[in-house]
Amino acid sequence: MSELHKFLFDGLPVRGVIVRLTDAWQEILARRASNTTTGAYPPPVAELLGEMTAAATLMQANIKFNGSLILQIFGDGPVKVAVAEAKPDLSLRATAKVIGELPADARLPDMVNENNKGRCAITLDPKDKLPGTTPYQGVVPLFDDDGEKLGKLSDVLQHYMLQSEQLDTTLVLAADDKVAAGLLIQRLPVKGEGNLEGASSGTSGKDHDQANEDQIGRNEDYNRISILASTLTRDELLTLDVETILRRLFWEEKLLRFEPQMGLLGPHFACTCGRDRVAQMIRGLGVQEAEEILAERGDIEVGCDFCGKQYRFDAVDTAQIFTPPGDQVPASPVVQ
Ligand SMILES: [Zn+2]
Repeated sequence: MSELHKFLFDGLPVRGVIVRLTDAWQEILARRASNTTTGAYPPPVAELLGEMTAAATLMQANIKFNGSLILQIFGDGPVKVAVAEAKPDLSLRATAKVIGELPADARLPDMVNENNKGRCAITLDPKDKLPGTTPYQGVVPLFDDDGEKLGKLSDVLQHYMLQSEQLDTTLVLAADDKVAAGLLIQRLPVKGEGNLEGASSGTSGKDHDQANEDQIGRNEDYNRISILASTLTRDELLTLDVETILRRLFWEEKLLRFEPQMGLLGPHFACTCGRDRVAQMIRGLGVQEAEEILAERGDIEVGCDFCGKQYRFDAVDTAQIFTPPGDQVPASPVVQ
């Protein structure tokens, strides 16, 4: 069962979240594998996407924000785009578009940053947004401050957190074909909530930023805990249960644990696609292009990249999409 645990280090300005996705992650992989057009992800892509899904879950759990957290990598190598989305109820979905072959031992730069054009974006999309408001988005290149290509997703995200939130963050991520897991350790902001949600709502004050910046790398408690967290190996993260990991890493620290989130309240797969959204997309194509597709193929078929569901619109359905609302005929006969 997939699970998420939050904790605080008693009396210290440090918090942590650990996530272990099993059934939720296996569901994402199984849906992809059963898609006859794409087939299963190559192992390095599955590993990247699993790490992204774990990271999106950790980041969503770590902020107070009523909306989707979407982690995207726009690649310039064989992986054109990879997306992981986590909602406040810990529903998750993820997908990646892969074109061409990639070596079995492909690393992050080989997949998404071959020509130095790859980038990573983190979007906070509010649930109840007013018309015209654009979601908050932060974009980072896949390089460190010295211009070196970052080799791991955790490095990219740590770099992002430091740049955008002025918060020291340690991330350990790992994924295989059964488990996607991650550990996040973060120094608490000096004052208020000067992190992602602050950036989205515009409440992040300059003074807080400055105070936080002064603290970067200087908090001894955080540094000690971060070093402990960094000793966690990929193998341990994938194979050990949460209790064992926390005990092994932090047996000398006093942890304040929150109620674990698992089962119905835990991380789970869910897709928000629907026929209405696909209809909207077809409307976006314009009537001419839609009719061309109809003439060529008989109907318009759109598959959801996240869950694999197929939506089919025949000529009548399509005509309906382009008919002004008042002139629509009912989709099914009305019983008198
Ligand atoms: Zn879907």
